Amino acid sequence: MIMSISKMLTKLLTEKEIRKNIKKRVEEIAQDTDSWYDFIDVLTYEYDFSIKDGDLRDIGIHDLDDAIDFWKDHSEGEVWKVYPDSIDDVNVSLGSTRVNIEYDNSIPGEARTRGETIYLSDRFLDFVDLDDPVSDEVLEILYHEIGHLLHENSRSIKKWISKNPEGCLGKYNISKGYWDGISHNITESWAQAFAMYYVRSNDLRNNFPKAYDFVETIADQVSARNLIDDVVREYLNFLDGMF
Ligand SMILES: [Zn+2]
Repeated sequence: MIMSISKMLTKLLTEKEIRKNIKKRVEEIAQDTDSWYDFIDVLTYEYDFSIKDGDLRDIGIHDLDDAIDFWKDHSEGEVWKVYPDSIDDVNVSLGSTRVNIEYDNSIPGEARTRGETIYLSDRFLDFVDLDDPVSDEVLEILYHEIGHLLHENSRSIKKWISKNPEGCLGKYNISKGYWDGISHNITESWAQAFAMYYVRSNDLRNNFPKAYDFVETIADQVSARNLIDDVVREYLNFLDGMF
């Protein structure tokens, strides 16, 4: 019997589709397994893959060595947390926020934010050149604190930072228990991304393009520029009071 061309095409397309699905599934298995042993175990279970003579020829795995290579290519041998949300869905708001700046030399480091107050210490003031009080160095610290301020004062921003859409701020290694991101944890990564967006935007865009998009999305939605202007004004008043 001669197959019609359209039937043949449909059959070819279907086979291609099936191969694609198998490949996708095997890639998922590779990502989710901690070792190539586990990978082979699951392949054996789901695809009758046997170390001796089984194969997944359709997706280019002919023998055990191919399977191990496939696993190495698609798995880091570790389990990373998955962040399923999309940056496109980010939707946040910020109520009216009154920013205070206060001096507190008991804090660790240069600056710290609690509620609507940014505390600055002598270590911060060491950075300040009174002839150029808004140097990039100083602004980066202040903007980092504004990042914390946004996180603390908006429930929706806090929620979206913890959702970490598309892993934009970094990723968490579940099997080894560590965070790999812009800074040492998710909140600090957000604050640092926020500061970099304004002071070193090319650095952020080139090294963490998704974080750049994330900050841009949030900054637009809450008119962060106004908040920044308030903070800088408060900071200059604060300096006047100090010196
Ligand atoms: Zn911080």
